Amino acid sequence: MDDAATLSFILNHLGEERTLQRGAVTPPIHATSNFAFPSVAAMRAASQDELGNAFYTRGNNPTVEILRRKLAALEGTEDALVFGSGAAAMAAGVLALVRAGDHVVCVQKPYAWTRVLVRDWLPRFGVEVSFVDGGDLTAIDAALRPHTRLIVLESPNSLTLELQDLAAIAALARSRGIRTLCDNSWASPLLQRPAEFGIDLVMHSVTKYLNGHSDVVAGALCGSAELIRQVFAGPYMTFGAIIGPFEAWLVLRGMRTLQVRMQRVGVSSSRIVDFLAWHPKVARVYYPGSAQDPQRQLAQRQHHGGSGVFSFELRTADVAGVERFCDRLRRFLLAVSWGGHESLVWPLAVTIRDGCAASNRTGLPWNLVRLSIGLEDPEELIDDLRQALEAV
Ligand SMILES: *Cc1c(COP(=O)(O)O)cnc(C)c1O
Repeated sequence: MDDAATLSFILNHLGEERTLQRGAVTPPIHATSNFAFPSVAAMRAASQDELGNAFYTRGNNPTVEILRRKLAALEGTEDALVFGSGAAAMAAGVLALVRAGDHVVCVQKPYAWTRVLVRDWLPRFGVEVSFVDGGDLTAIDAALRPHTRLIVLESPNSLTLELQDLAAIAALARSRGIRTLCDNSWASPLLQRPAEFGIDLVMHSVTKYLNGHSDVVAGALCGSAELIRQVFAGPYMTFGAIIGPFEAWLVLRGMRTLQVRMQRVGVSSSRIVDFLAWHPKVARVYYPGSAQDPQRQLAQRQHHGGSGVFSFELRTADVAGVERFCDRLRRFLLAVSWGGHESLVWPLAVTIRDGCAASNRTGLPWNLVRLSIGLEDPEELIDDLRQALEAV
């Protein structure tokens, strides 16, 4: 998919069937729960393939189906499903693949709600779990048991942005008949396509870069027709955590600019990372592929460029220094989530409760600050960071 024409075609045309829509340049929003049929025979045929037909909107809807086709094409998979959130997509993917008595391996330090799903919910249903350092292939191999059914990956993972060697892990898993699922939200399908490395299910928080405008919460799973059918027949239809047609339409609109947005935030981020890496008030920057990144070679192998989310450690004596820095920023909104048009700052210090440093509970450094770089002028963002660093 490095072919820019193919990418442009997917984002601008694929699945839109304009001749069926009286030439409408943007797709209609099929705001309907139900679909009517001219005969019992036609209704019966549709009901036997709800994934492929518009029958009832919990299963399929024409506006959502356009999004499914584009996401599958972007990830290079046969099919995709879209959910009402990234957390719903992750839960559906995991629950479709495991049952009581199975064992799941998950990377250390995944997205917080992925950790809750794996650590707290799976054991309630008789599934055993192990968390391992995803950067250590030997540790993953050692964690596998005869009844391991699934490896949950997130490359890079949240906050500390460590990579996993997707090709090596996928090969190991396949040789043991184990499925792999990878959260690809950070990279977006433009910078990394896990299925190319042999990953079975690719998950997205569509809330982030795919939508890109901070106005929708959505998620997706991409994979083979067989696996997507399995997820559809199981958690997708049973739990019903679907996206509505209007939100799907907003995501389609957001995705028109995916390519230009990713280019912009990648270029801006590398300038900002360079500025921070040399600043005396910055102890360490976590940005995959940067000169300081111990996994730089793997990043270069797996990624087609850099994304716009990264973290750094502030050189300060206490949490008050972190708070002064964040409170002084004028061009970065203090907000959770990321991947929108606007730049954001989120300090780990937000999670500190009862005076207990977050690092005591999560193993993450208390002075960690995450930035999400938006579409603003990077020089303005650097000026803002410079003045706020002076307050530390
Ligand atoms: C935000 C996020 C999620 C969850 O997605 P929602 O759309 O918020 O439910 C999952 N994984 C990662 C890496 C995320 O950043």
